[in-house]
Amino acid sequence: MMCDIVVERSWHSENMTDNQLEPCIKLPLEDGVLADIVEKAKDWALMHGACMRSKLNFSKDSLQFAPFVLLPSTFPQKEFKKAVEIQIILNELVHKVAHDYEFLSSSLKSTIEVDKFTGSLFQIYETVHKEGITQTFSLGLFRSDYLAHSATNNNIKQVEINTIASGFGGISTHIPSLHRYILQELGHGDKVKNVPVNTALEGLCGGMLEAWKLFGDPNAVILFVVENITYNICDQRFHEFEIRRQNPAVIVVRRTLTQIADTAKLGKNMELIIDGLSVAVVYFRSGYEPAQYPSDNEWAARLMIERSLAIKCPSIHYHLAGTKKVQQALATPGILKKFLLDPAKVEALQEIFTGLYSLDLDEHGNRAANMAIMMPDGYVLKPQREGGGNNVYGEKIREVLQSMTDSPERTAWILMERIVPPVQKGYIIRPGGPKVPQMVNLVSELGIFGVIIGNSDTVIANQQVGYMLRTKLSDADEGGVAAGSGALDSPYLIQ
Ligand code: ADP
Ligand code: MG
Repeated sequence: MMCDIVVERSWHSENMTDNQLEPCIKLPLEDGVLADIVEKAKDWALMHGACMRSKLNFSKDSLQFAPFVLLPSTFPQKEFKKAVEIQIILNELVHKVAHDYEFLSSSLKSTIEVDKFTGSLFQIYETVHKEGITQTFSLGLFRSDYLAHSATNNNIKQVEINTIASGFGGISTHIPSLHRYILQELGHGDKVKNVPVNTALEGLCGGMLEAWKLFGDPNAVILFVVENITYNICDQRFHEFEIRRQNPAVIVVRRTLTQIADTAKLGKNMELIIDGLSVAVVYFRSGYEPAQYPSDNEWAARLMIERSLAIKCPSIHYHLAGTKKVQQALATPGILKKFLLDPAKVEALQEIFTGLYSLDLDEHGNRAANMAIMMPDGYVLKPQREGGGNNVYGEKIREVLQSMTDSPERTAWILMERIVPPVQKGYIIRPGGPKVPQMVNLVSELGIFGVIIGNSDTVIANQQVGYMLRTKLSDADEGGVAAGSGALDSPYLIQ
C-alpha cells in the first residue's frame, strides 16, 4: 500500500551508481529564474489541489501543497510502455490468485502463525469462506510499483503491487499539467508532448461506478472507509468529486472503521446499511495497518463489511493476494504458469520480477538469510506491512536476521533483491523550503493503476487506467512527507 509518499533509504553512497539520466532541460537553472518559477509552481499546485493537510499544523480549514519535483523526471518510454501494457496481466494474475483458496492458504500458512495482523485478516477470509460468500464480485483498484534497475539496462522491476488503498491516483492526474505549465513558462513548450496524459482518476472512479451499477440499487451509496485523520484529503476528495461528476446520482459517504462498528448493520438480505443508507460499494482507504484497528470493534466492522452484500474494494481475498508473502510465493519458479495459461504472459511477468526469497525456517530460508547476511546491501528485508517505513536496509538487515535465527518470527518476513535505479538531477519543492532550492540527486518510482471487476467465474472489466510517479532523494534515509523527502512527479518520456 502506498497512501503516503514514503521515502526509504535507497542505498549506501559507496554503492552509488554512475547510471545517470539526463534531465529534460539543461540544469542548473539560474537562481533568479528558479526563484520565480518555484513561486509560480507552488501557487499552481495550491490552486489545483496538489495538496495535503499539514501534519505539523493540522487544520481541516487549510491545505499546503504536497512536495513535488519542479520538472518532470526522465523515464525510458519503452519501460513506461511495458509497465502500462503489463497491467492487465497483473490484474488477471491477482484476481486468479485471490480466488485460489489453496494457494492463498498455503502461501500464508507459516506467516499467519507468527504475524498477528495478517493472521486476523486471514481469519476473516476463513470465516466468510466457510459461511459462503454473499457478494461474489470484487472490485480491484490496484497500483503496481516499479523502479528501473541499473543492473539490467534500466529495465523496470516490480517493487510491489498494492491491492488496498492504492493512493495518489487523484493528485497524480494533475501533476502532468503542472509540469507542462512549468515547461512552458521556462520556454520549453516543445517538450510538453513528452509528458503523457494521465487518466488515473477518471479510470479509478469509473471502476467504482461500474461496480455500483453492477450492485443494481439506484439508491445505494459508495462508502469510503477512511482514517481517523486524513492528511491525504485532496487525493480522496478528488475521487469523491469525480464520482459525482461522472454520475451525480451517486452519493459518497465517508466513515471510519470505528464509526462503522458503532452504526452499521446488516439487513435481511445481508445489505450493509449505514445510517439508513444501503451500501453498494465499499472503498477502503484505511484498514491496511494494525494501528487502524485500535480495538476488536474495528475488526468486527471489517468482518461485517466482508459478510455483506456490498462489493468490496478490495474484498478480503484481493487484500490477501496483495501481501508481500504472496508476491514472494508468486516469484517461485514454475508458479506463474499455474495461473496464466499463455506462456507469453508468464514470460512478460517474469521479466519484471526480481529476486524474491522466502525466509521460512527451512533450507531455502536459511540460504536466503545467509546470502543477505553476507551481502546486506544487495537486499531489502520486508515484513508483512503496508504504508511505508517498515522495511529494513543495509547493515540493519544483518542485525535483524541474526536476531531471528531459528525463530519462527522470521517466516513473517521476505527478502527481496535490491533494485538500484538510475539517478538524475533535479529540484524538490517542499512546504517551508528555501526560495531557491538546491539541485539534488533524485530517483523515481513509477506506479501503474489497474481496475478489475469479477468473481471466480467471470471478469467483467480489466483495464489499465493511468499512472503516478514518485521521486525521492537518491540517498534519502526513511521518512514520510512530513520529513519532506518524497515528492510527486510525472514522467518525461525519452526514446
Ligand atoms: P510498502 O508496502 O511499505 O509501500 P514497499 O515494498 O513498496 O512497501 O517498499 C517501500 C519503498 O521501499 C518502495 O517504495 C521503494 O522506494 C523501496 N523499496 C522497496 N523494495 C525495494 C527494492 N527491492 N529495491 C529498492 N528499493 C525498494
Ligand atoms: Mg509501496
